[in-house]
Amino acid sequence: MKVPAVANRSFEELNKKPEFMVIVQFIIDKLSKIPFPIKRAKIIHQTIEEFNQEVFAHPLVKQFSPCKSGCSACCHTQVSVTRDEAELLVQRIADGVEINIDQLILQAKAGDTASEFYKLDYESRGCIFLDEKGLCKVYEDRPSVCRTNAVLGEADQCKTSDGHQQVRLVKTPQSDMAIYASFLFAEESGSLPTMVFKVLDEINNEVKES
Ligand code: SF4
Repeated sequence: MKVPAVANRSFEELNKKPEFMVIVQFIIDKLSKIPFPIKRAKIIHQTIEEFNQEVFAHPLVKQFSPCKSGCSACCHTQVSVTRDEAELLVQRIADGVEINIDQLILQAKAGDTASEFYKLDYESRGCIFLDEKGLCKVYEDRPSVCRTNAVLGEADQCKTSDGHQQVRLVKTPQSDMAIYASFLFAEESGSLPTMVFKVLDEINNEVKES
């Protein structure tokens, strides 16, 4: 299980507080009732949006957060996804979203460890779903962590061009608990490129065998 670092940190801070553990249990119960991976991914994304609504609507966040359409500063970091989220992203590729396969292979080779990923140069670390204008091609289906990475201050603090991640995130503890629960529930998880590569590879093999 590769739980995103921020959600993991929130879980370690909050796991003695019953009100947050209720969220973890609620999400696991909810996901257990849905037999379809893509539907599960969409449900968790919708739940996170609901949890985020209040904090992201706060006037201070609106005034001081640079996280707006077209800013892709955080899209050069290592993003973790569940198997369900990877299947949703692969569905988008199957529907026609174009990706740079060479970049996917390069990033997938770096595996799940942050140290290997951050050895890649800044451009090579760009998410496979970024377009040439810095927009996310799968915005409505972006992974959970892409929905909670909001900062206050300058966008440059997310840039990681020096290979280090130093972000001051707007705290979204309920969303972090939901993310933690979805990773706990997930049959598999890993970095976005390794999981997308894996699902694509499995589909490819199934097609060859049929
Ligand atoms: S999925 Fe979209 S929002 Fe998330 S890192 Fe990739 S381009 Fe950025």
